[in-house]
Amino acid sequence: MLMAATGMVDLHTHTNQSDGLLPPEQVVQLAAQTGLRALSITDHDEIGALEVAMTIGSQLGVEVIPGTELSVSHNGFDIHILGYLIDFHHPHLLEFLHYFQGERVRRVHRILEKLNALGYPVPLETVLRKSGAGSMGRPHIADALVEVGHVPTYYEAFNRLIADGRPAFVPKVRVSAAEAVAIIHEANGLACLAHPGQNLTEPIILDVIKAGVDGIEVIHPKHTFSQRALYRQFARMYNLLETGGSDFHGGRKDGEKLGEYVIEYEKVERLKARQQQLKS
Ligand code: AMP
Ligand code: FE
Ligand code: FE
Ligand code: ZN
Repeated sequence: MLMAATGMVDLHTHTNQSDGLLPPEQVVQLAAQTGLRALSITDHDEIGALEVAMTIGSQLGVEVIPGTELSVSHNGFDIHILGYLIDFHHPHLLEFLHYFQGERVRRVHRILEKLNALGYPVPLETVLRKSGAGSMGRPHIADALVEVGHVPTYYEAFNRLIADGRPAFVPKVRVSAAEAVAIIHEANGLACLAHPGQNLTEPIILDVIKAGVDGIEVIHPKHTFSQRALYRQFARMYNLLETGGSDFHGGRKDGEKLGEYVIEYEKVERLKARQQQLKS
């Protein structure tokens, strides 16, 4: 049964093309049922969900905004940059994503070697089955560790073995924030700092702003009310767009719901207006 349209927008979601659990068509269907007017799919280093999601979206009356989420590194901080309204056929963007997906596969091999040496062998096939067609990462290794029976839960897999700094952790190869912004701009997109409240200090946030992002994620499940207020203030001070979303992973994370963290459609209009400015 369809719920009343809310007319709101969720600009941060993942599908099974990265570490979400649901296929793109189901994420768009959920968006329609929730009454969202627009939705962005922002898979990690991956655009594989966008074509089908946009087709289903046009059938169901949900505007699907093409997106991706890139990982960058600055002073040892793990920073995520969202790219919105990207031309996802752009050859340089595709080359860049292809390189990162290759790096992700090499990293999974190295993590599995470490797990094996620690006495937690996991078959590569199990991880491949968990990741499916899209980009693979630690969440799929965590799922595999649970399936093999080495740990009771997904969270335990991270906390005991593969979280940052834990014994089987291997860092990702990363580019700088400025490089990620440049590749998003080259593909005609807008670059926005994702969930600054998750792990970033104010000086680091200011560095990323100087690297040339167009926007900042204000609404996110990990943000407190005072963080939202602070990031709105940054947006005003530095002429940044405000974005937001649920960071939905298809129910992977405890209690998450699509459309729980939303923004007004007007914010999408501002993104589009800024895109026109950048083009001219
Ligand atoms: P990767 O891109 O392979 O490094 O995986 C990063 C993803 O793993 C994040 O987007 C989270 O979804 C998840 N993750 C990272 N650290 C943790 C943690 N300590 N507990 C649970 N999930 C985590
Ligand atoms: Fe994720
Ligand atoms: Fe993220
Ligand atoms: Zn995300």
